[in-house]
Amino acid sequence: MGWIGTSICRHCQHHSIFGGYMYDLESKTQQVTQAKHGLHIPMLMPDEFFMGYLGRLTHINGLGNTSNTNKILSAWVKQSHPEANVVPAAYSLPKLLDIDVETFIRQHTFAPITGAIKSKTVQRNAEVTARQNSNLQGMLITTSKKIKKAACFCASCVKEDIDYLGFSFWRRSHQLSGIDWCLKHNVPLREVNEDAPYEIQPANYLMNKRFTEVNIESHTADPVVLRYAQLIQDALELAVPLDFKVTGQVLFKQSKEFNIRTSAKGNKKTLSDLMIEQLPDYWLSKHFPNLKKERHGTYLSSFDDVLRLNGNGKSCMNTLLAAAVLFKNADEAIFEFTQHQYKCPPKAKPKISDKAIIESYIKFQGNIKRVAAELNQSYDTLYARAATLGLPALTNVNRATFNAIMSFFRGEDFLTSINKPGVNPEKFESVIRIAGGQLSSTINKFKRSMSSTKLS
Ligand SMILES: [Zn+2]
Repeated sequence: MGWIGTSICRHCQHHSIFGGYMYDLESKTQQVTQAKHGLHIPMLMPDEFFMGYLGRLTHINGLGNTSNTNKILSAWVKQSHPEANVVPAAYSLPKLLDIDVETFIRQHTFAPITGAIKSKTVQRNAEVTARQNSNLQGMLITTSKKIKKAACFCASCVKEDIDYLGFSFWRRSHQLSGIDWCLKHNVPLREVNEDAPYEIQPANYLMNKRFTEVNIESHTADPVVLRYAQLIQDALELAVPLDFKVTGQVLFKQSKEFNIRTSAKGNKKTLSDLMIEQLPDYWLSKHFPNLKKERHGTYLSSFDDVLRLNGNGKSCMNTLLAAAVLFKNADEAIFEFTQHQYKCPPKAKPKISDKAIIESYIKFQGNIKRVAAELNQSYDTLYARAATLGLPALTNVNRATFNAIMSFFRGEDFLTSINKPGVNPEKFESVIRIAGGQLSSTINKFKRSMSSTKLS
């Protein structure tokens, strides 16, 4: 297609001094692994925020700014989807990288917590949106929705990146609303308040001192803030996005312990009053500026409605904030949120036996999409059936980790399971945490099926 641009990038700084080393911010160091569609494609890093990746792609190809890159990517996607008007980067980038759109959106955008992803599947939405322009627009807006006002980076992460990779990149985990410190280095993040900040690598801002440092002393030690930080990270990791009907039921039940009012009318304290009481003022005014009121007891629907039993129009972040306030333990809240999802039995008499589903589930290591394909069922039907059996939808769980999870639920000791060769401990723990007791009882009920299926 001949897309290589000839414009000079306004952000280029060929060689700069950084931390005593000469280093090169140009394309050569950025592990460009492939070149296709006329574009040089840098390697996508774990936890890399997609807007930052778009910036790197722009920079490496000398395209000037990300809207130029978006135009090129759009034109390329439109070759196969001529009906699309606007193509969001969150859709075109994974296509360019030849990776699953759903995985990309889950791992590199905020869509899992900004509400773009309903409790169905992103992949399905993405395929639908490729045909329906209005949805495509919606997805573009939601994935680009900023969570924090400023773009944030951690100076220690940047230094490590430069030392190990030769370039630096924007991490999604640093852009999370309410988290002003690096969870790895436990140091305050630096904030960049400029236009199109992600078009430039964080190392440039650090080097040129174009940032402000956040004062985090006031709230890193605050237990509610720490719970919120854990909850927001957990929510991003969930294989199944939160169902706001379920979160409403769970939070409503939990709110009973606090004697608070759950309807607009009345005199008792509201959930939003409790939030204001429990959270540091500085933190609230920075991250939840709408959580303020003239008078104690006023019902603030955007926050207090998270206790409602219907799922409409709720904010994921406000839901997580409520959980941080109402639960003593973030793991318990996430467990309650996820273990009750999709418990409703399917209306029609199931045509496929539970045993067949379990066997296929084991065969495909929890990949529901492949199970549905094998059993010739729609994804949604299979997803709901699997959920009633307590089988979580898993992606990217390797065979060793999957087998260890099954052994654990068959009664093997936790440490024995997690320490088996090839097991990814983080994945193991997160699956155990979300799967819960339902999976355990299913495994025991179908023990023969589970153990007769060849696991390795
Ligand atoms: Zn860091």
